[in-house]
Amino acid sequence: MGTIRPTDIGCYTLGFLPPLFTGDFLICMGSSVGAGCGFSKATGKKAISFIMDSRFFHSGIPGLINAVFNHHDLTLIILDNQTTAMTGHQPHPGVNMTEMGYEGFSHVSIESVVRGIGVEHLAVIRPYNIKKSIAAIKGAAAFCGVSVVIARQNCVLLDKSLKKHTGNPFYVSDRCKNHRDCINDLACPAFFIESGKVKINPALCTGCGVCAQGCPEHAILPLKKTEKAFNP
Ligand code: SF4
Ligand code: SF4
Repeated sequence: MGTIRPTDIGCYTLGFLPPLFTGDFLICMGSSVGAGCGFSKATGKKAISFIMDSRFFHSGIPGLINAVFNHHDLTLIILDNQTTAMTGHQPHPGVNMTEMGYEGFSHVSIESVVRGIGVEHLAVIRPYNIKKSIAAIKGAAAFCGVSVVIARQNCVLLDKSLKKHTGNPFYVSDRCKNHRDCINDLACPAFFIESGKVKINPALCTGCGVCAQGCPEHAILPLKKTEKAFNP
C-alpha cells in the first residue's frame, strides 16, 4: 500500500534532502496534517506527517481534530524541541516558562491536547534512542486510524545558549572499516573525510550519540574530556 509523507516548515524541512528523504511535499505552515489526510483519502495510502511543536500549536491542531472526526489513516509525528527554533527560539504554549526563568505563564501539554482530541494511539519518544524510536514509530504507523508520536528532544542550540548542554563530542576510532554508512545514511554535518578517512569535527559534534548507535563496527566513541586530539 505504501505511505505518503507530508512535511511542514521548520529545520526538519531539511529532511527533504538526501539521504533522509523524510518529506514528499510541503505546502505551507500547518498543512502537513490536513494535506496528509486529503492525500491519504485520495490515494488510499497511510499518511505519515511531520510537524514541529510550535507549528502544532499554531495551525496543526485543527487538522488533527479533523483527522479524528473523519477516521483518517494518519500518523502524525510531532517534533517537540521545546522552542520555535528556526525563527530565533521564541517560546510557545508547550514550553515550560518557569524552567526558562519566567513567571506568570501557564503550560499546555501536547500529550493532553492529543488525548483530549481523542487520538487512541500515542507514543512519546526520545529520538536519540534509535532502537526504541524506530519501534515506537513502526507501532504507530501500523495502527489503523489516527496515531501520534511525540519526539521530544530539546533544541541543542537553545540548550547551548542556556548553558544547559552537556554532551561530549565523539570521534572515529581505529576500529573504523571506512564503509561510510555513517556519512551515507545519517548526514550529520560534523562528519568529514580527510586523507580518505572518516572523521568527526568536535566543534560541530553535539555529542548526541546517534552515529555511535548506528556504526556496525562500534567504531565511534565519546571523546574523553581530557583528550585534546582532533581525531586519533
Ligand atoms: S559506520 Fe562506523 S565503521 Fe563505517 S565508516 Fe562510519 S565510523 Fe567507520
Ligand atoms: S554524536 Fe551526533 S552530532 Fe556527533 S557526529 Fe555523531 S551524529 Fe553527529
